[in-house]
Amino acid sequence: MKISRVFLLLAMLIAAGNSWAQEDWEKKFEQLGQELPTPNSYRTGSGAPGEAYWQQRADYKINVSIDDKTQVLTGSETITYHNNSPHPLRYLWVQLDQNVRAKDNLSDQTKNSSIRDSTAAKFFASNVNAIDYDGGFKIKSVKDASGKDLPHMINRTMMRVDLATPLKTGENFTFSIDWSYNIYDRMLIGGRGGYEYFPSDDNYAYTCAQWYPRMAVYDDYEGWQNKQFIGRGEFALTFGNFEVNITVPSDHIVAATGTLENAKEVLTKDQYDRLQKAKSTYDAPVFIVTEKEAREKEKSKSSKTATWQFKADMVRDFAFASSRKYIWDAQAVKLPTATPLAMSFYPKEGNPLWERESTKAIKNTLEVYSERTFDYPYPVAISVNAANQGMEYPMICFNYGRPDAKGNYSDRVRDGNISVIVHEVGHNYFPMIVNSDERQWTWMDEGLNTFLEKETKRERYPELDLVWGTPKGVVSYMKGDKKYIRPIMTNSEQIMQFGPNAYGKPAAALTVLREVVMGPELFDASFKEYANRWKFKHPKPADFFRTMEDASAVDLDWFWRGWFYGIDNVDVSVDEVKWYRMRNEEGDIENKGRTVAGGNMTAGGSDATGLDNPEPFSLTETSDRFYGEFMNRVDDKAIMAKLADKNFYQIKFTNQGGLVTPLIIEFTFKDGTKQTEKIPAEIWRMNEKEVTKVFYFDKEVASVALDPEELTGDTNLKDNVFPRDDMMSKFDSFRATADANANVEIAGTWSFVADTPQGETKGELIFDGKKGKYKGTLTTDMGSYDLRDITLSGNVLKFTFDVDGGGQTIAINSEAIVDGDRYKGKMNIQSMGSFEIVGMKQ
Ligand SMILES: [Zn+2]
Repeated sequence: MKISRVFLLLAMLIAAGNSWAQEDWEKKFEQLGQELPTPNSYRTGSGAPGEAYWQQRADYKINVSIDDKTQVLTGSETITYHNNSPHPLRYLWVQLDQNVRAKDNLSDQTKNSSIRDSTAAKFFASNVNAIDYDGGFKIKSVKDASGKDLPHMINRTMMRVDLATPLKTGENFTFSIDWSYNIYDRMLIGGRGGYEYFPSDDNYAYTCAQWYPRMAVYDDYEGWQNKQFIGRGEFALTFGNFEVNITVPSDHIVAATGTLENAKEVLTKDQYDRLQKAKSTYDAPVFIVTEKEAREKEKSKSSKTATWQFKADMVRDFAFASSRKYIWDAQAVKLPTATPLAMSFYPKEGNPLWERESTKAIKNTLEVYSERTFDYPYPVAISVNAANQGMEYPMICFNYGRPDAKGNYSDRVRDGNISVIVHEVGHNYFPMIVNSDERQWTWMDEGLNTFLEKETKRERYPELDLVWGTPKGVVSYMKGDKKYIRPIMTNSEQIMQFGPNAYGKPAAALTVLREVVMGPELFDASFKEYANRWKFKHPKPADFFRTMEDASAVDLDWFWRGWFYGIDNVDVSVDEVKWYRMRNEEGDIENKGRTVAGGNMTAGGSDATGLDNPEPFSLTETSDRFYGEFMNRVDDKAIMAKLADKNFYQIKFTNQGGLVTPLIIEFTFKDGTKQTEKIPAEIWRMNEKEVTKVFYFDKEVASVALDPEELTGDTNLKDNVFPRDDMMSKFDSFRATADANANVEIAGTWSFVADTPQGETKGELIFDGKKGKYKGTLTTDMGSYDLRDITLSGNVLKFTFDVDGGGQTIAINSEAIVDGDRYKGKMNIQSMGSFEIVGMKQ
């Protein structure tokens, strides 16, 4: 059949105009199905561990010593590996994470490097691998229990130990490894663990992490964890019990994972008594080593050593810190079923900030996290001060935050210090106890933890500015260039914009889930269910997704699909609001089938009569043919009477960002009162691009605002209000042109509105002084800027200001025409184009 072009064109037009068209369907509400692994007897469709769930176990006995003269760590460990899997194992894999700094490591080899016009020497040396450091584990021996050498093979950060006979299900295998490595200078090399040198008193503080060969995870999901440690994707570790003896100079104080077993031996009588006192002191920290005592110890160096003995049960890792500089304070925390000891270790350089905030922050964290998940199960929770890092281990973490040399610190330093302590202590829950695979999924610990970090600060530190981890805080990331955005469900090593992707966005998503999608009651119960199902186990992403649905009866596949598997952003526009009232004349009821145009509350108010004069519509008597076989009839007249005096509003919403979202609609009535309606995201399930919905009220509506409290992460608030509160459109009639002879005065305060791609930025523009000698400032949400090169020639105003564009100064040039009490013009940003600005004299 020959189809005419006219027919084709017609068909295309119909398709384009039909919002039900098949090609618009992006399956945003389809079940995840294929995206999730098939449930089995290890991991069930409910998200809970299955009846055949198993996990391995590794117990360690370690002797380790630090040489304070050479900064060499020497260790000897005996590992007992329990095979609980249904499979015989012919070899075991051990992780050698220090090898990430060995010569020709994968991390340095594969990092991109380039030369810029000028770069700080420290960064350049690191960039081109020009740092002289003999890093990596020096493995001296690998032996079985009888002392016989075991065949082993090292592949970068992994070591395969071959067994003479396969290790059967239910059996265990004991072997030992001797090693040493040069502890690195964190100031020079960065990274987790290492040492910090203090030149003023010639002392070291050691924070030891990834310091011993650790068993890799073998599980039902991946077999042996076989992804090399490159640096970003952190760790996958097996639970077990540890006995660790740490030998250091006898004047050192040691903080470590676990309980100190020989406190009487290594502490003075005073220190020991104070530690006992702390265990039953709940209101404020008790000093075990005071600042005065720590300062005194800095002055000499003991030539003797002492061995600190620690024990830790059911931990996935072990870390410790050691220095003669440490001040030590502790206090007990009362939880419903436990009383852990919160402790802080810090050099005098951390005070007075640390004695005020650190232990208190640990206490706040344990209390809030316990309430949201389960009572903190470990005996101690420790925060150690370490410059420029935040890093977590079971029961112990290393945190930045120091005052200046005079002991002063800003609110920003305090905020950062509290945030990092809450965050790193919080990691005890995710991933130390709810033991996810960090090598694969950064969000599973960082995202969940950043969410609870934000919740803790919201509850316990209301004075802090909460943006990070909130829906509002993720807007600038989510509306950014999609070239630089990858889904949350991206392997740790391939994530772009690491912080927003793996911390900020998942935390914001969980906040939207709690506050908007599920509500606190359902969310908290489900989140708690996940934490309890998987504590001391190894969850995968699907176990989290499934549990949140299983425990709440809320289908969240659309949510995971949109927020975790996609890169769309939330941006809903209120395109149109139409006001209707019913005709009340009897005669209209007979007027069947008539279509009526709605009264349009138009944008910009150019047709304000629409607000005063609603369009009429009719309700007609229901025809008998709509009843089919039913004998009974609806009372049409009662329905009409009920709705006779109501105001009906038909609102059209369009989905500009692509991410489907619930709608929070605030109606402001003409008498000034407000009412909020909440519509679940499922309103988009038949049409993902555009929906309309009718609301009715007794009162007349003056304006409509979508998500006025910014709870959904909507990236463009400009199109959320109706009628549009749009300064730009009010200035559309601005017709003034450049006039060199105009006599204009600009001194005073002017409003400032910039029409940026991210929506309207509002602020204030202040000019001081006389013609030819103006000074000025521009203040917006982003900051306050001094203006330079201000010129006024006739009615043409020009000025420039500089902003910090991430280490590089960006000049913004502006030009505007001033006409009486108004101005209108443009701002040009180097290589980024220009946008309109307008304002009025205040
Ligand atoms: Zn973290």
